[in-house]
Amino acid sequence: MTQIQIKKLFIANRGEIALRIARTARRLGMQVSSAFSSADSGLPHLRLCHKVAELPGDPARVYLDAGKIIDAARRLGAEAIHPGYGFLAENEDFAAAVEAAGMHFVGPTPDQIVALGDKVQARKAALAAGVPIVPGESEPISDAATARAIADRIGYPVLIKAAGGGGGRGMRVVESAAQLEVALARAQSEAGAAFNDPRVFIEKYIARARHVEIQVLGDGFGNAVSLGERECSVQRRHQKLIEESPSPALTRQTAEKIGQLAAKLAASVKYRGAGTMEFIVPFSTQDFYFIEMNTRLQVEHPVTELCTGLDLVEEQLRIASANVAKTPLSLPAVTRLPVHAIEARVIAEDPEADFRPSCGKLDLAMLPAGPGIRVDAWAEAGLSVSPYYDSLLAKVLATGQTREQAIGRLVLALNETFISPVRTTAPYLAALIQQEEFRSGNYDTGTVARLKDKLQKSTCDVSADSAVLAAAEKIARNGHSGMLPRGANARGLSAWQRAE
Ligand code: ADP
Ligand code: ADP
Ligand code: MG
Repeated sequence: MTQIQIKKLFIANRGEIALRIARTARRLGMQVSSAFSSADSGLPHLRLCHKVAELPGDPARVYLDAGKIIDAARRLGAEAIHPGYGFLAENEDFAAAVEAAGMHFVGPTPDQIVALGDKVQARKAALAAGVPIVPGESEPISDAATARAIADRIGYPVLIKAAGGGGGRGMRVVESAAQLEVALARAQSEAGAAFNDPRVFIEKYIARARHVEIQVLGDGFGNAVSLGERECSVQRRHQKLIEESPSPALTRQTAEKIGQLAAKLAASVKYRGAGTMEFIVPFSTQDFYFIEMNTRLQVEHPVTELCTGLDLVEEQLRIASANVAKTPLSLPAVTRLPVHAIEARVIAEDPEADFRPSCGKLDLAMLPAGPGIRVDAWAEAGLSVSPYYDSLLAKVLATGQTREQAIGRLVLALNETFISPVRTTAPYLAALIQQEEFRSGNYDTGTVARLKDKLQKSTCDVSADSAVLAAAEKIARNGHSGMLPRGANARGLSAWQRAE
């Protein structure tokens, strides 16, 4: 086992992922530090840090200010910086600046971020490693004539994508030649505004598709392993809501094959750290096409931890240490455990008001626990959900010996997630995973949109009749320590279960 060289770690993030990273770093005996915006002074990860500093300035911007972050890390004596996900995690200039400041970036090299984090470059790397990519063009498109020629070649519908896009943004489906020119111009200007990078490219739009991704680890010396797949086709507006493993869509043979190719791609560039290769699987087939790589820890990495027993943050820190010491380490032996794992992302949006963001102070934040349940969260009574940041409050995960058991546990866990007065997607997600379309495993990336009306209704029924939540809110407000009213629990639960 590699000796951990890094003793002092700075976490350049907030919320659940900062807490997640702090826990592992402490377990490994590290000194942990972090810096927080003026809106974040109460966040729980700060309690686990040995040293903290406030980041002066606009709370909406400070976590993106590489200069301020690096300065804080240096002043707090850090040897390495873990970027978490979002913010600066996939920013090659940040990674380079961290190294230039004499610290280690826990993640890939700046060159690898460019070569794999950019969707156009990544297509080329995949092609070179023999990984199938979505039919299309691997060069940015600047003029309408080129766009037309490509679209005619691959056939409509096509997808115009921002090379630097992310978070489900920067994509435009084009159904016919008549729409192409206008769509191209819009996509370019949107990409410029949103990602500071106007480059777009065109690939085939696979109308009915599943999203399957492979978690990989690379040691930075040319060795890489696959940690198996995650199925992420339950999406709303291209954003993942539910992730599970194993994928109900793939045979074990196909899953193994994709895993081997993903590891081969990572090894081919001497990838350093944890990363995820994302693939599109046309519905009802065992075909697969690479779409992009995320060169960081993924929101849904706990699904893989539950299926392998590994701690991915620990693996990241071991790889980082080995690279500091310039000595290759042994990547972990990966054994797929005989469990099914599912994650639900509970976010601060109101499903009854078209998913409008919901902000404000939390009076109540009761999170589930129990056999087969894991919760990665930052939400606590007294803290505030601010409008500046990602709306993720909690990731609720369930494992089971069977998929059915995991779903059953997750429904109950989501029903035991009482957060108020901020509205959350927990009731919506509980209703969603009880739908036949999800239970059967026969879903695709369009399933959530098709279930819109049905889900709207179940969620409203549940919220309106939740006597449990009403009673709990009252207790939170009044500080009353009595029992919930008799029957409240039973009434509440039967209402949730009507969601079918
Ligand atoms: P994942 O599969 O890990 O969820 P996403 O691409 O959906 O990958 O986004 C991961 C995280 O990146 C989000 O939770 C958020 O913190 C951050 N993020 C998402 N979209 C953007 C964006 N457009 N700009 C910056 N950060 C983003
Ligand atoms: P992002 O960086 O925003 O995560 P992705 O390339 O991963 O961008 O695409 C996000 C989602 O959009 C995918 O999970 C999938 O649902 C859908 N998508 C992406 N590419 C295609 C495609 N070629 N055909 C159909 N759907 C796609
Ligand atoms: Mg993606």
